Amino acid sequence: MEADMTCPQCGCEHVYPDGSLWNCPECGFEWNPEDAGTPTDGAVEVRDANGNVLADGDSVTVIKDLKIKGASSVIKGGTKVRGIRLIDAMDGHNIACKISGVGAINLKSEFVKKA
Ligand SMILES: [Zn+2]
Repeated sequence: MEADMTCPQCGCEHVYPDGSLWNCPECGFEWNPEDAGTPTDGAVEVRDANGNVLADGDSVTVIKDLKIKGASSVIKGGTKVRGIRLIDAMDGHNIACKISGVGAINLKSEFVKKA
């Protein structure tokens, strides 16, 4: 069973299995990937500004103007974003998406709501 397993806590790729658990050498987190039905400490659940749980492929609406780091453009509040992908980035961004006119970008779920 070769999987692209990464640490759900820190995103480290050098994780290793230990029996039914996986271990992360970076942060010491251990978890059971089979245990998807039961939320564990450190499990990532992505919720929008209203507390709705988001899933891959959802469409969301940006709720406020967002400055793009390193760019002059701004994502306007009210912009619709289709087909989001949930990610677990270290910098707090947890949604990957593409916005027309802007391109591929990462957003924070607290600045969107489910469309
Ligand atoms: Zn880790």
